[in-house]
Amino acid sequence: VDTTKKVRIFWTTNLITQEERSSMQAVRLHKVLEDGPKILHLLKGIRQKSSLAFESQSQCKRINGLVTRAMEELHSIEDAGTFKHERILESPQSTLVNVSLPNDETKTRTVLNFCANNYLGLSSDPRLIKAAHDALDHRGYGLSSVRFICGTQDIHKELERKIASFHSTDDAILYPSCFDANAGIFEALLGPEDAVISDSLNHASLIDGIRLCKAQRHRYKHSDMLDLENILRETHEIARNRLIVTDGVFSMDGDVAKLKEICDLADIYDAQTLVDDCHATGFFGKTGRGTPEHCGVEGRVDLINSTLGKALGGATGGYTSGPQALIDLLRQKSRPYLFSNTLAPSVVGASLETFRILNESNEHVEKLAKNVTMFRSQMQNAGFKLAGDANNAIVPVMLGDARLTSEIADDMIEEGIYVIGFSYPVVPKGKARIRVQLSAAHSIDEVQKAVDAFIEVGKKRGIIP
Ligand code: PLP
Repeated sequence: VDTTKKVRIFWTTNLITQEERSSMQAVRLHKVLEDGPKILHLLKGIRQKSSLAFESQSQCKRINGLVTRAMEELHSIEDAGTFKHERILESPQSTLVNVSLPNDETKTRTVLNFCANNYLGLSSDPRLIKAAHDALDHRGYGLSSVRFICGTQDIHKELERKIASFHSTDDAILYPSCFDANAGIFEALLGPEDAVISDSLNHASLIDGIRLCKAQRHRYKHSDMLDLENILRETHEIARNRLIVTDGVFSMDGDVAKLKEICDLADIYDAQTLVDDCHATGFFGKTGRGTPEHCGVEGRVDLINSTLGKALGGATGGYTSGPQALIDLLRQKSRPYLFSNTLAPSVVGASLETFRILNESNEHVEKLAKNVTMFRSQMQNAGFKLAGDANNAIVPVMLGDARLTSEIADDMIEEGIYVIGFSYPVVPKGKARIRVQLSAAHSIDEVQKAVDAFIEVGKKRGIIP
């Protein structure tokens, strides 16, 4: 391994400790690559001095075939420019956060946060924190059990009832996450005689869940109703039951599934529907009931899967809400429900408070809608190209070029606005964008600051006149 490669491998595999990175004054990766030999020399010096001395001998022994292959793959991810770095927050989740800087992760800066799924601004709401404390005091820290052994408390049942009532369905079943709800639903409800018909841009967890089941699998082109209808026609005689599966809001583009047309097709062809409404529940639609409400098909979607980990407090947890027999069957067969630990009481307590707040007033939903309208109209007037549904809190600012997008995201942090750029392979080539996510907790002034920063950076980079 040549020296440069070695340094790169150390860097990408975290063999360089945080302390060493600080000592090196957080030299940026490209700098490390350029200065490979020099940096390695520097590292050696640091390691000799450091109390966390690098045990190269034992480290070498652990480098087996699997590790080597992992290093090579990490290396190619780095080369492709798609290596994901975690940016460290040193504050609670909020509209204002302390975040490490892109070019020097030893330093943090207080910035306005426009990239969390904190749509209702409840993530650090004092009422949820108090409810979580109360649940900790009265129901303990953890249950050390799956639901059906001894992991179900009265509050779990109460939360399931609240969720079902919020969606106007018979019942709901809680999971540790919506990823689990999506992983566990298909195998439990569908057999080889059935068919699942899925939008091509559905979330990874739906794709994985579908892979786990034995049903026939079909994929229709994203939001293409003709393609969906063709598949429904073709599978009419072949499949016992057909389940049409779609995200409610597609999180990369901010567009909404055509639920009215999907439900109409489901009626015509005697199929059922499942909507993953993670990016809509609690805030989208007039009263926050999600995409079925927005599209005017409340009561026509058979199954709703969603998360407690975004708008509804943002901690963790997911659920399926739907007809009694299906929820009952999930409790008997769904593997993440049967074989993974129950939701922590503090999360359940805070989630109950979330639904209490949502049922009490529509204030958060309305405030978010105002912020979305203000941001979208000002950005459009300034000349930016935006994607997605006009009402949705996800606002992709379309920029095209991947490098430009990442530079603009860095510029925005400098301007005190935290946004993230997305490029290939997360989105198609040439369609890089910055995804802005608005929150009910943003003040008018904060939304204005974000728009002003975009205008400043956009002019500097020649994106807008
Ligand atoms: N479905 C969609 C559409 C999502 O965006 C996500 C989260 O990113 C999930 C499911 C998974 O939700 P959770 O974080 O509760 O596992």
